[in-house]
Formats: sequence, C-alpha cells, structure tokens
Amino acid sequence: MSGMIKLKSMQEIKLMREAGRIVAEVLQEMENSIKVGITTAMLDKIAEKLIRRHGAEPAFLGYNNFPASICASVNNEVVHGIPGLRRLEEGDIISIDVGVRLNGYYGDAAATFPAGKISPEAQKLIDVTRRSLQKAIEAMQVGNRLSDVSHAVQDYVEGNSLSVVRNYVGHGIGEAMHEEPQVPNFGLPGRGPALQPGLVLAIEPMVNTGSWEVKVLKDKWTVVTGDGSLSAHFEHTVALGDNGPEILTTSNLT
Ligand code: MG
Repeated sequence: MSGMIKLKSMQEIKLMREAGRIVAEVLQEMENSIKVGITTAMLDKIAEKLIRRHGAEPAFLGYNNFPASICASVNNEVVHGIPGLRRLEEGDIISIDVGVRLNGYYGDAAATFPAGKISPEAQKLIDVTRRSLQKAIEAMQVGNRLSDVSHAVQDYVEGNSLSVVRNYVGHGIGEAMHEEPQVPNFGLPGRGPALQPGLVLAIEPMVNTGSWEVKVLKDKWTVVTGDGSLSAHFEHTVALGDNGPEILTTSNLT
C-alpha cells in the first residue's frame, strides 16, 4: 500500500512551497475581503485574479467540471460549495478551499471565516476545527503511522463534543492534486503506512456541530450536513522532513 505513495525530493518540496505560498496568500486575501453583503462569486473572482497574477492556475476550475476557482461553503455546507450570488449575512460562517498549480505542483488549503459577529457555538466550532488540524500536523512525525494523524483529529474533536465528517478525507498531494494515501479524520492509532521524510499530505478536518452524516445537494457538488447543523473545514498542505512537519501553505505576509 505504501508503495503507491510518492515521496518528494527536496527540490520538489521547494516547488510545492512556492505553490503553497500562493494558496496562503489567497486565503489571507479571502479573510480580508469577507464581509456582510459580499457574494461568494465576488470572492471567487478576487481569488482567481490573485492566483493568475502569480502565474499560477486555479486547480479547482474545471476539475471534474467544477465551475469556479474556490469552493465556498456557508454554514451547514461542509465542502465543495459553488460560488454564486448568495450574499453573506451577519453571523454566517464560510469555509473557503483554494487549490493552485504552479510549475507542475499543487498546493491545497482551506479555512473557515466569520462574517460579522458570530454565535459562541460557531466560534467554538471554528476554534476546535483549526486546533484539530494543528493536532494532526503535530502527529505527522517520522516513527508514527498514518492513522496517528487521523486519530489526532478525531480524539480532539470528539473530546470537544463535536463530530468528524467520515465521507470525505485528506490526501497525498504533489504532481497531482489527489495522490495516495487517503487521510481520514478518524480511526484507531498505530495503523497504516509508516510516515517517512518526503511524505506530503493535504490534511483537512471537516467538523460538524451535530451528527457526522452528510449529503450532497442536487447540484451534485455541495456537501451539507444531514441534520442542518453547522460545519467548518481547515486544511494545510504539509511536508514531512527530517526535522518534522513543515506547513507548505503558509505565507510570509504575516
Ligand atoms: Mg484537499
């Protein structure tokens, strides 16, 4: 199974760092742009412009015919929301997922942001989901196994009385956006391939305030919570080096 995982050289990770930096900059621009009244289509246009200005390509645009450069998922929408004419309202939360391709390599990251003043429940959801990603990254160490990463998310999220989406998972990433291995956000520790230097993963916990069950809308893309509860999504592209994990989707802007 681990034979199918493509470990990356230092040179490849350098290229992925460059792609990742653009992804991070776009997410930062999304955070700066999100406000009550803006449409998700406007956010998509801002993101596409910025990606192209860097000479990169929006990885999601045209992927299985997806019609936009970002996924924009509001409130009960989990992932894969299609940008459109919906205007953000006070108290909404919005998950933005961004992928770019630069010099043959992909970067992929996501974050959930507030629009205006949000409820304490929504704030807790965002905080726990973001921290669960940090826990997963901390578990990405040589000597650990893949499911230690998965288990770290589930343990933290369920310890905070929230639930982890099962039907969608993180993934290896490199010259393809989705490579082996799949990275579930749940599972027993100590299973799966041993983590080795050169492994690059897109780790992406999706967390609901209600049940973990989800369904797909008639547009065939938008994934929503089965019970209408709120959902959040954080993702980083992370490389495992000799000295531990390195987040590639980070910018030097902040
Ligand atoms: Mg991803």
